[in-house]
Amino acid sequence: MTNKVYQNDLPDGLDLGPMVAIDCETMGLHPHRDRLCLVQLSNGNGHAHLVQIARGQTEAPNLCKLLEDSDVLKLFHYGRFDIAAMLNTFGAVTAPVYCTKIASRLIRTYTDRHGLAKLLQELLSVDISKQQQSSDWGAAKLTKAQIDYAASDVLYLHRLRDALNVMLEREDRMEMAQACFDFLPMRAKLDLAGWP
Ligand code: MN
Repeated sequence: MTNKVYQNDLPDGLDLGPMVAIDCETMGLHPHRDRLCLVQLSNGNGHAHLVQIARGQTEAPNLCKLLEDSDVLKLFHYGRFDIAAMLNTFGAVTAPVYCTKIASRLIRTYTDRHGLAKLLQELLSVDISKQQQSSDWGAAKLTKAQIDYAASDVLYLHRLRDALNVMLEREDRMEMAQACFDFLPMRAKLDLAGWP
């Protein structure tokens, strides 16, 4: 597993294929107050690409091209937050998207635990540590523990989607899930515009 760290944007010419897992780290949970610090991406091959975003930065052309590419499906866990964070920072509307948290809520109705760590443990027998979740993501130099943690949030989303889709198909809830995914970019816009 190699995790690459870049400054400000993805490098030119990096092709991550038709399905890309994305996660964001921010200074906190209020998009208008707490800036975007890091965007993590993976194409599901076990490697992660981490882009550090500078304070005051409003452009990332290569990243935004990917976010807005209608031929690339973007996978998130709780995409509502990440889509809003990147829309607020760059003005880019991420689409099309898939959210493993929404899929989980629609199919794992036997539990109220829909966190990523719980899902990975139950469906993939993968244990990830959430220890670095609350740390200073605005630091100029991230620690090895932060980088590993940030990567772990995107490395397994492709496999997780596969597992959740098997369940959604089995219980005939795929159409419902797809309608929710299609609405998600607008849901994020509404959050930013004052309709929580
Ligand atoms: Mn994360």
